[in-house]
Amino acid sequence: MRVKLLLASSNRGKLREYAALATNDFSLELLPRFSEFPQFSEDAPTFAENAAGKALYYSRFASEMVFADDSGLAVAALGGAPGIRSARYAGEKATDAERNAKLLAELRGKRGEERRAKFVCVIAAAKAGKMLAVVSDCVEGVIADEPRGANGFGYDPLFYFVPLQKTFAELSAAEKNELSHRGKAFRKLRDALL
Ligand code: IMP
Repeated sequence: MRVKLLLASSNRGKLREYAALATNDFSLELLPRFSEFPQFSEDAPTFAENAAGKALYYSRFASEMVFADDSGLAVAALGGAPGIRSARYAGEKATDAERNAKLLAELRGKRGEERRAKFVCVIAAAKAGKMLAVVSDCVEGVIADEPRGANGFGYDPLFYFVPLQKTFAELSAAEKNELSHRGKAFRKLRDALL
């Protein structure tokens, strides 16, 4: 029997990826009326606290299992930025293109090791206000000199994955799910829950 999982998010990129990752073991839906609930403010200093807080908070609005993630890009040469502020890096209403342009501007003149980055994903699952699992994973890459590729979302066009010599936006959805922080973390969640 497939386990029902409700995703507490309004990010379409994430939903698309989780829908593909969840196919065999879970039936995944968006948490009904997500956008009508008072929003959980993700202002904790770590991905883990934000993911856990979100999952616990939204699990009180449903009877099934609810999961939430907090994810982002961390560049060591920028002190870990954009980090937990990845979604708001260039202001609340900025577009992906504006966030990518800001990242390129911050890294101007930096070469080699200084362009190393990692994507981090923490996923938490909770039911009726009780925490069930918190898992995390990451993937390492390098920030490219210019955006490349049209797939994925967010910082994917700048995240160059050295072993394949492609940015994440040049990968198919299946390839990205195989390698990504989100794909790896979700497989840990599956192992923890099933
Ligand atoms: P949040 O987890 O909703 O706070 O947002 C995370 C932000 O990090 C997204 O809006 C993206 O900007 C970025 N991000 C997280 N995961 C990915 C990814 O897989 N590809 C590209 N950008 C990502």
